[in-house]
Amino acid sequence: MADAKRIYDRLKTLSAFSEKNEEGTTRLSYTPEYRRAADYVKAQMEEVGLQVREDAAGIIWGRLPGTDPNAPKILSGSHLDTVRCSGFYDGQAGIICALEAAQMIQESGIQLKRDFEVAAIPMEEGARFPNLSGSKLAAGLLKEEDLDQLRDTEGITLRQAMQSYGLPGRLDGVDRSGEPVKAFLELHMEQGPILEEEGLDVGVVESIFGCYWKTITVRGEVSHPSTPMERRKDAGLAACRIVTDISRHVEEVYQGRATVTCGKMRFHPDEINAIPSRAVFSLDFRSGQQQCFDELDAWLEEEIAQVERAYRVTVEQEVFSNTPPTPSDGAVVSAIRTAAQELGLGWKMMSSGAGHDAMIFAKVWPMGMVFIPSHEGYTHSPKEYTSPEALARGADVLYEAIRILDKEN
Ligand SMILES: [Zn+2]
Repeated sequence: MADAKRIYDRLKTLSAFSEKNEEGTTRLSYTPEYRRAADYVKAQMEEVGLQVREDAAGIIWGRLPGTDPNAPKILSGSHLDTVRCSGFYDGQAGIICALEAAQMIQESGIQLKRDFEVAAIPMEEGARFPNLSGSKLAAGLLKEEDLDQLRDTEGITLRQAMQSYGLPGRLDGVDRSGEPVKAFLELHMEQGPILEEEGLDVGVVESIFGCYWKTITVRGEVSHPSTPMERRKDAGLAACRIVTDISRHVEEVYQGRATVTCGKMRFHPDEINAIPSRAVFSLDFRSGQQQCFDELDAWLEEEIAQVERAYRVTVEQEVFSNTPPTPSDGAVVSAIRTAAQELGLGWKMMSSGAGHDAMIFAKVWPMGMVFIPSHEGYTHSPKEYTSPEALARGADVLYEAIRILDKEN
């Protein structure tokens, strides 16, 4: 079984590789603190007996060779960067638990057929360069020219940052999308309270939430507040009605499956004594299932038709961002579920509300994620906490899932 103390000690050591800050860990990609953390991860991988390679993007790969070099490999890992004043579980737990799984394989003396590689990835958080850039480089979704386009807040290009970190500033050997891979597994803290509240050990992630943004413009007619209520064309009131109706509908029908948020609303002319002639607001929909987006779209169409009649206004919708949900791979999900069952753990199927490197790798390889409990759901905070025992149970699931996937064709 996984060694809870060993996992916790490694995470605790990593937590100290931080910029000086008020509290928690701050480790942005390609900084001196990131270098110290990367060197520590490499040394730990070497200690476990992995063949360690830091590629030209600074992604660390620790390889445990299998007996069949042609068999599609199994990869597992997560991100080594953090947001400012973070805890030391988000991302890092996925690296250290994958390393623990590698060490368990080594110590048990079993010989895998497939190569197993542990990954430590930069730039997931978007705290310095755009989020998910590390995994996008490995998946071949960012190219050489992007190194000069992407800049941090100080105007330093990604190429310059890589060079000052000691990398060549080219991408030779970084894109691995052409390699045959059986599964990319990512263990991550849940970043929500559900597993803890329900007393469960692991979440088997069936999909990662997509995000769908709309701008809605309601047009009525400006008039004086003395205008009788039944004669108004009040764009503001109509907009508020749409927001409250759809929010209530999502809460009633899609509990745990979808969310809707109105984060922006503007009225025109925006005067205390004028009925608004125009209201513009945003809607942010999130769900793990495309079907929810489709149903909500249809529901909103009908709602808008009713509001147009009731409030004597016209409504236009514009979609300005649409990231579809990312489903996990069926075979990988089934391996994780079987692993949890065989270990006698409490588990449930879940969707991930946040984005992860696994979401990017899903574009090129079969992907699956294991969630472990987050105490009270704290995340991106020094209050992040997962107990050493819960971390160990997550590593056990990884280890078993790797063994199951290794035996498959
Ligand atoms: Zn993360």
